[in-house]
Amino acid sequence: MARRKFVCGNWKMHKTAAEATALVKELAAGVAEAARAGEVQVAVAPPFTALHAVATALAGTGIELAAQDVHWEAQGAFTGAISAAMLADACCTHGIVGHSERRQLFGETDEGVRRKAAALLGAKIRPIVCVGETLAEREADRTLEVVGRQVRQGLQGLSPEQLRQLTVAYEPVWAIGTGRTATAAQAQEVHAALRKILRELGGPVADEVRIQYGGSVKPENAAELMSQPDVDGALVGGASLKAKDFLAIVKGALR
Ligand code: PEP
Repeated sequence: MARRKFVCGNWKMHKTAAEATALVKELAAGVAEAARAGEVQVAVAPPFTALHAVATALAGTGIELAAQDVHWEAQGAFTGAISAAMLADACCTHGIVGHSERRQLFGETDEGVRRKAAALLGAKIRPIVCVGETLAEREADRTLEVVGRQVRQGLQGLSPEQLRQLTVAYEPVWAIGTGRTATAAQAQEVHAALRKILRELGGPVADEVRIQYGGSVKPENAAELMSQPDVDGALVGGASLKAKDFLAIVKGALR
């Protein structure tokens, strides 16, 4: 089945509100052409402090707003945390959970991913659930076991209708911010395995779930990666900070 490609820029801990607004202005100038007027779905994930400014700047551009993280509780004494309702209030339509930097640097677990994804869905925000193996795990031939565990545990208990709302992002940890990209064949192999697991979890709805690839996606490799049958878009870190590169990646998603 034809799935609309979905490209999301993860700005990580970059850009003040003013800098983020300036980047959105540059993106707005070229996104309609790059995404062929909506043929490709496009989103950006600024830091929390820039969400409101970016939401305002995005109005009328067709670009959607994503958050980089969320806390699963609705409210309470959780210093520094942001709830799904707060993200909805800031106009987020997507939320990234389980990014490898959160897993590695901030102790995010599969159980945390599950609770965060459920909280987002409860606030009508579509989760982008990241999974990926480390270099040591790939070298030990454990890639499918690791991403399989992450996706099964992270999506545990979701109904087919809830699965339909979300995106899975396969991001091999060894490819994130390293300049090393998975080959198109390596990406396709893992994406096909992930879709098989999605089918076990949700049945036919698996054919509607987008699976993005992330890990040093650049204008030079985007089109080849996204031409694979199970690669339905990209989660882009470094290259999403430059409008020209990000728009070229969006163009790479066109068939
Ligand atoms: C990411 O962090 O989601 C990512 C894919 O980063 P980069 O594109 O910089 O490798």
